[in-house]
Amino acid sequence: MPADVTCDVLPETVLTVEQAQERILETIQAITETEQLELSQANGRLLAETIQAGFDVPPHRNSAMDGYAFAHESLASTATLQQIGISWAGRPYLGSVSLGECVRIMTGACLPEGTDTVEMQENTQQQADQITLHTRPQCGEHVRYPGDDFKQGEIILETGRKLTAADLGLIASLGIPAVKVIRKPRIAFLSTGDELQTLGTPLAWGQIYDSNRYTLRALLQNLPVELIDLGIIPDQPQAVEQAFIQAQQQADLLITSGGVSVGEADFVTRSLQKLGEINFWKMAMKPGKPLAQGRLGNCLFFGLPGNPVSVMATFLLFVRPAILKLAGINVVQPRLHPALTLTPLKKVPGRKDFQRGIYTETAEGYQVRSTGKQESHLLRSMSQANCFIVLERDSGDVEAGSQVNILLFESLS
Ligand code: AMP
Ligand code: MG
Repeated sequence: MPADVTCDVLPETVLTVEQAQERILETIQAITETEQLELSQANGRLLAETIQAGFDVPPHRNSAMDGYAFAHESLASTATLQQIGISWAGRPYLGSVSLGECVRIMTGACLPEGTDTVEMQENTQQQADQITLHTRPQCGEHVRYPGDDFKQGEIILETGRKLTAADLGLIASLGIPAVKVIRKPRIAFLSTGDELQTLGTPLAWGQIYDSNRYTLRALLQNLPVELIDLGIIPDQPQAVEQAFIQAQQQADLLITSGGVSVGEADFVTRSLQKLGEINFWKMAMKPGKPLAQGRLGNCLFFGLPGNPVSVMATFLLFVRPAILKLAGINVVQPRLHPALTLTPLKKVPGRKDFQRGIYTETAEGYQVRSTGKQESHLLRSMSQANCFIVLERDSGDVEAGSQVNILLFESLS
C-alpha cells in the first residue's frame, strides 16, 4: 500500500438499510442559494421569492364573447341598436357609446366607454348597421372585469413553490420576464477502475467498458440536477484524491463507483477517510454492501460499489433521496406493495435483499416473478425487471405462492 494512504481502522458498524437511509438524510440541508432564471427556463424549479401582482389581471374590462357591446339601459326602450364601430382585441374602440348604440366587439377586446353588457353574436340579427337582439341579456352579461383572475397587490405564488405550467403562465401574465429560484444541486460522478475502457476504444485483454457512468448519468438526468462528469479514474490513490479535491471544489455531492471494498486496489474509502469524513460504509443489504457514505467538506459523498446492479440499487435507495432533499424536494419513502411470488426466491438470512422482479397487476392484486440469477454483475436483470422484490433481513428462502413485498421502479423515478 502506498505510504500516503491512511491505514486507520475504518468504522466497522454494519447499519440496516433503514438506519443508513436515516443517517444520510439527517446530515443533509436543502440548498438555499438562488439564481435568477428566465421564465422559459424555470419550469419545475423551486421559487425563491414571492410573486405579487403589480396590477389587476385581466387589466381591462373586456368581452368574453364575439358579439355586440352596449349600455343595458338602452334595452328599456328598444331591442334594435345602431352599430357605430368595432372594438378588436388589442385595438379598442376609442369613442364612447350612447344610448341606443352598440359596437361590434371581439373576445378579449375592451368594452368602450358607455357600455356595460355584451350580447353574443349568435343571439342577434344584423341589417346594415342595425343590430336586433333576439333575447334580453342581463346587465353585465359576457363581461370580464379587471382583477377577475387576481387583483393588484395580491400574493399569487409563495416562496418554495415548485413552478408548474400554470404558475409560469400566471407570472407571464404579469409581464415578469425572470424569477428567482433555488439553484440546482451540482452532482459530480466518476468511475474508478484500471480495467475500465472508454466507449469507442477497443478492449484490451482484461478490460471492460465503463457502463456505470452511463447508468448513473441517466439516473441523474431524472432528477433536477446539474451534472459534472469526472470520467474514469485509475486505481491510484493520488488520482482518486485529485478527483475528490476537484469534486469538493465544484460539486454539492460526489458519486463514485467501484473501489469501496477491501481489495488492494480499493482506494475510495481510504481516500475519503483521509480527505473527508466517513458517516458509514457497511450496510446489511444485498446488492450494495459496502457503500461508503460521508462528506468531503461541504460536498456529500457516496462511494457506490462497482457492480452495475449494486450501483443502481444503492443509487435508487440512498443517493436519490439525498439529492431530492438537497434540491429542497420533500422526500417520501416509496411505498411497498404486497405481491404473490410465482417463482421461488433464494435468500440467505442476514441482509435485506432487493432482488430483481417482474410484476404484473391482476384482478387479485400484484404478482411477481424473479428475473432469475441475482448476482450483482448481471445488469441485464435490471433491464428486464420492473420492480425490486424486497426480502427482509432475517428471511430465508421463499417458496412460490408466498406473499412478498415489491418496490416498483416507477415509484423511484
Ligand atoms: P470494485 O467495486 O471496484 O471491486 O468492482 C466490482 C466489480 O464491478 C468488478 O467486476 C468491476 O470490474 C466492476 N465495475 C467496476 N466499475 C465498473 C464500471 N464503471 N462499469 C462496469 N463495471 C464496473
Ligand atoms: Mg475496482
